[in-house]
Amino acid sequence: MSVEERLQDVRDKIVKAALEAGREPDSVSLVAVSKTFDAEHIRPTINAGQRVFGENRVQEAQGKWPSLKTEVPDIELHLIGPLQSNKAEDAVALFDVIETVDREKIARALAAEAKRQERLVRFYIQVNTGLEPQKAGIAPDDLGPFVALCRGELATQVEGLMCIPPVDENPGPHFALLAKLAEENGLPKLSMGMSGDFETAIGFGATSVRVGSAIFGVR
Ligand SMILES: *Cc1c(COP(=O)(O)O)cnc(C)c1O
Repeated sequence: MSVEERLQDVRDKIVKAALEAGREPDSVSLVAVSKTFDAEHIRPTINAGQRVFGENRVQEAQGKWPSLKTEVPDIELHLIGPLQSNKAEDAVALFDVIETVDREKIARALAAEAKRQERLVRFYIQVNTGLEPQKAGIAPDDLGPFVALCRGELATQVEGLMCIPPVDENPGPHFALLAKLAEENGLPKLSMGMSGDFETAIGFGATSVRVGSAIFGVR
């Protein structure tokens, strides 16, 4: 299958999963995860109408997206990988949505940069639903005060939550937990589900799914 065919296949599966969950198909947005692939590999999906893309490294994204964004101004770029505060300036300059805010230091750095650059960047908070020591994300128990800090003192536009469930576990309970936390905190957006489990995530209320290899092929 070509990249265009795989993209269409993923879109069809999203519609089907949404309908099966009793949801509007356009309540689920597809973030096409293009990490490791170059502009020429990405371009067919842009030509096929894809506009929302995810990258996990600031530096890699800087190498391919500024020119594509100039060509196609309505592209929306999401940062889905861990962020160091010394990269906050570059991240705010390039990304429209930063999904991996997970600690006070990075939240402060991003808030200061967004203000300085007068950029309307939207933020998601990454939650470590499996409490995995090696994984980024705030612990579920610490989320409430962190949301309050981001919304209050830092005045950032926090829209939702994001998670990456442990690879060796059934993702369903993690998706359910993220949905519950979003509800409790009044956050409307839920970024959850990847190539292997995006249909499951849609059943649990995902408003965006991050799909890479099912569209672009193996990395
Ligand atoms: C790479 C990546 C994805 C996409 O994974 P696939 O299994 O290729 O769909 C989704 N989310 C994050 C955070 C990633 O780093």
